[in-house]
Amino acid sequence: MKELDYIVVGLGISGISICEQLEKNNKRFVVFNKGNYISTIVSAGLINPVVLKRFTPVWNASEHINTSTLFYKTLSEKLDIPLFEDMPMLRIFKSNEEQNNWMVASDKNDLSSFLHPEILKNENQNINAPFGFGKVKSTGKIDTVLLINSYKKHLEKSNCLINESFNYKQLQQEDNHIFYNNYIANKIIFSEGYAVKDNPYFPKEIINNKNLSEKLILPNKGEYIIVESPELQLNTMLKTSLFIIPLGDNLYKVGATYDREDESTNTTNNAKKELVIKLKTIINCPFEVVDQVAGIRPTTRDRRPFLGTLKESKNIIFYNGLGTRGITSAPSLAELLYQHIENNKSLPNDVDIKRHYKW
Ligand SMILES: Cc1cc2nc3c(=O)[nH]c(=O)nc-3n(C[C@H](O)[C@H](O)[C@H](O)COP(=O)(O)OP(=O)(O)OC[C@H]3O[C@@H](n4cnc5c(N)ncnc54)[C@H](O)[C@@H]3O)c2cc1C
Repeated sequence: MKELDYIVVGLGISGISICEQLEKNNKRFVVFNKGNYISTIVSAGLINPVVLKRFTPVWNASEHINTSTLFYKTLSEKLDIPLFEDMPMLRIFKSNEEQNNWMVASDKNDLSSFLHPEILKNENQNINAPFGFGKVKSTGKIDTVLLINSYKKHLEKSNCLINESFNYKQLQQEDNHIFYNNYIANKIIFSEGYAVKDNPYFPKEIINNKNLSEKLILPNKGEYIIVESPELQLNTMLKTSLFIIPLGDNLYKVGATYDREDESTNTTNNAKKELVIKLKTIINCPFEVVDQVAGIRPTTRDRRPFLGTLKESKNIIFYNGLGTRGITSAPSLAELLYQHIENNKSLPNDVDIKRHYKW
């Protein structure tokens, strides 16, 4: 039997951010990673403090942005890879009214540090933006493919990564310990994204405050197309009805879609069509679709993650429900979770998995 402090299941951003806490605190752990519904590697990896549809700050914007920027910059140095890129984001205005709304928003206390209070003129003739742009501050982009692949290699070096699907049936609990194959661990952390829906230790349905049964984790499928356009010559991220994100070498990630019905991870023609139609309203130069990706965002009804333990077992821990902004929020949330499970610090109610239960 190999003795461990933790077994981690799932190596998306939730798994990576909790592994960083475990490593920092010299804990012994292994990670199982192989499964469906991957989200992190598909994500555009944007760090963006503002909901650009309505000009409102995202949940816990300052805390999440500061912690995540530092986290990814530090991880870049640790893994010696160019993970984080400071990249400006421009919001295309559709009307004079939107320009005015932007100016009003940029004067508010909670937004003034994120919205540049100026209307920028469009100087790229390949972009349709007669009303100009607003510039968002503190934005950046993570190379999520590089993140996942490099982190796997990092764990492999210390023999911490097991490229296998975790078989829930083989988990046993005895004397406050977790037994799995030839491992004995103090705790297990489930961070398997939307695949948690198949985890028998995770409640399928809960009874809400109105005595109605509802699902705790909900799928939200997102698709991007990758387009090539030598003429576009864009070096900032653009946002209107979709994001256009420069990837280098004349390639751009364009999306994403939101679909709450389709749980499959395959790419669809419908999403491609929708994105191409929208893109043609924003740029007026030729482009070619060269790739397409799809993933499932693990979302929750109240748009807050769920962290922590259920009543039945204190050493089975969940870290999930990261939703549409997990790249941004995961580093802060992993700190909260670690302090909770190791140092008994209370979790804020809005992220505690128990908030959903009637006890
Ligand atoms: C199209 C799209 C765009 C997005 N854009 C952004 C963005 O710009 N900014 C932002 O902040 N967020 C964004 N998000 C949201 C963000 O990607 C998610 O919140 C986040 O990636 C969720 O991470 P996770 O670790 O919970 O899940 P995942 O990334 O899905 O990772 C779960 C891992 O667990 C593994 N697994 C599952 N079951 C098992 C098992 N039984 N055994 C072993 N391993 C298992 C899976 O293989 C996977 O590797 C986007 C998401 C999508 C889909």
